[in-house]
Order: sequence, then C-alpha cells, then structure tokens
Amino acid sequence: GAAIFPRDGASRSELLQHADIAMYRAKDQGRNNYQHYADHMQSRLKLRMSMETQLRRALENEEFELFYQPQIAVATGRVTGAEALIRWRSPSLGMVSPAQFIPLAEETGLILPIGSWVIDRAMRDLATWLQLPGGSDCQVAINLSARQFSQPNLLEIVADGLQKNLLQGDKVELEITESLVMTNPQRAKELLASWRALGCHIAIDDFGTGYSSLAYLKSFPLDRLKIDRAFVLGLPDDVSDCAIARAVIALGHNLNMEILAEGVETQAQNDFLANAGCHVIQGYYYSKPLTADTLLAHVRSGQLKLA
Ligand code: C2E
Ligand code: MG
Ligand code: MG
Repeated sequence: GAAIFPRDGASRSELLQHADIAMYRAKDQGRNNYQHYADHMQSRLKLRMSMETQLRRALENEEFELFYQPQIAVATGRVTGAEALIRWRSPSLGMVSPAQFIPLAEETGLILPIGSWVIDRAMRDLATWLQLPGGSDCQVAINLSARQFSQPNLLEIVADGLQKNLLQGDKVELEITESLVMTNPQRAKELLASWRALGCHIAIDDFGTGYSSLAYLKSFPLDRLKIDRAFVLGLPDDVSDCAIARAVIALGHNLNMEILAEGVETQAQNDFLANAGCHVIQGYYYSKPLTADTLLAHVRSGQLKLA
C-alpha cells in the first residue's frame, strides 16, 4: 500500500494510515499487487467494517433466514427436494443477498457459525416436511463454502444435526464446488467418504465454472452434477451452450450421476434439458426460492406436488 506526500496526507500519521488503507485494498484484490491510496478506498473500507459489525450482530439477533428453491424431477414433474439459500434480513440494509455477504463472512471466519446455523435450520425444516403427505422422499440441499470445508469438526456438525432431528443421511445433500474439491483433494477424499458413510448425498455446484479433473470426478463419491446457470442461459439457441449442456449430461449418465440444471427460467430451456436427458430442474421456471412457510403453503394447496 502506497501513500505519497503531500497528495495523500499532510502528516506522517495520516500518510501511514492511508498507506495502510491502500494495503487492505491490495489484499482485497487477491494479494501480490500494490495499490496507491485514493479517497474512495476509505469509504469502501468503512462500508466493509460496518457490514462486518452488522454481520456479527445479525447472528445474535437471528436476522438470517433460509429460503428454499424447489427441485423438480423431469420424469414426474414433482418436487424431490429443495435447496436452502440463506438471506439476511437486516434492519438497516434490508434484504441482503448471499452474494453480498458470504464473501465477507468467509474472510472474517463468520461463515463458520453462520454455516452451522444453516445446517441446523435446514435439517429442522426438513424434519417438518418429511411429515407431510408424500413428503417422505424429500431431500434438502445445503451449500458449503471453502472455509467450512476445512473446518475440522464439520463432519460432527452434520452428524449431530442428523441425529438431533432423527433424520436419515440420505435426506440431506451437501453442495460443494469443484474448485473446493480440487484445492485439497486429500481432505476432500476423506470428508466425502465420511459423509457418504452417514448416507448423505453429495452434489457438485456450479459445475463447469471452476477447475476440475475428470480423474477426480470419477474417484469421488458424487451423486449429482449441477449444471451452472451460465450454460443454461443460452439454451436452446446458443450452439456452444447446447453442446456443453449435452456433454455434461452425457458425462453424468456415464459416471452414474444425476444431472440437475440450475437457473432454468423458460419452457424452451426446460424442454431442451428434458429432451437431452437431464434428470432434475431448478429455476424460476418452476419456482423462485420461497420462505419455508410459503413452500409449505404451496404444498398444502397442491400448487407444488411432492414426490
Ligand atoms: P448457488 O448455490 O449456485 O444457488 C443458486 C442461485 O441462483 C441462488 O442465488 C438462486 O436464487 C439463483 N437462482 C435460482 N434459479 C434462478 C433462475 O432461474 N434465474 C436466476 N437468475 N437465478 C436463479 P442466491 O440465493 O442469491 O445465492 C447465491 C449463492 O450464494 C449460491 O449460489 C451459493 O453459492 C451462495 N449461498 C446461498 N446460501 C448459502 C449458504 O447457506 N451457505 C453458503 N456457504 N453459501 C450460500
Ligand atoms: Mg448451491
Ligand atoms: Mg449453483
């Protein structure tokens, strides 16, 4: 971080302070670079710090909420599961999307208590749905982030949640990304095997957007590939998207994995994917993420049909 006299400060202490702010910015940009101080960095840093304080408070004040997006089986048109997606209902900021606060939660380590809360909450909600008529086959999908993945007691957190809510492991799907697996394949191998031993299903989220090795893909106990929305967007007109979607579906079929397409918004996308052999569809075409109560109400009214 660099600050230059007199442009960036009149005193030694001010210069140092501003160089420090520039250094934070450099770290923010992924380290291994340098930044010259600029006034706008200060407001960014302030915003970040205030968001961090509020994020800490959010946990204590129970401002987090889980929304659920239904996942529909192509073969039956019925809901076979739902993905838990966190929201932060902040009194001052309004509804904050995970894209805005998960990265900060990751950096500060707050993702660990937040992630444990998500696991606990999602399992509790799932226990309710399993009691519904036709609900006994429902599963809930939980997103895990990089920092959680390296958390030593993650396995216990999942196991305790299952036990506490009297759930069988196969009702829970854990979503990880390919990059997460590839950063530490050894850890991934052990952890995935332990989850599998609990009966949990494992899905690769955002498939195709990170780095992965097909050799690993073959050797890990994976149940499902989730085709990222980026490849669904151009269906059925974009030739490359069609080729990629078809290739991923074929890959999944051959490796005995289920294929789910994310971010399906139109009937044309849905039909293309169904015809290409995709097993499960998730996206606005069927439903946006819903509060747990709304999901229940839709099931009770018959608007959403459980498997
Ligand atoms: P993701 O796991 O890939 O989740 C899919 C995202 O796509 C969700 O955004 C969902 O609302 C959105 N989506 C679903 N269908 C459609 C569609 O048809 N069109 C469009 N445009 N978008 C669609 P959301 O809820 O904002 O979550 C963003 C990301 O934040 C998630 O991506 C996931 O990586 C992360 N995230 C969410 N909840 C959690 C959590 O509890 N823990 C962790 N670690 N990460 C989470
Ligand atoms: Mg996900
Ligand atoms: Mg995804």
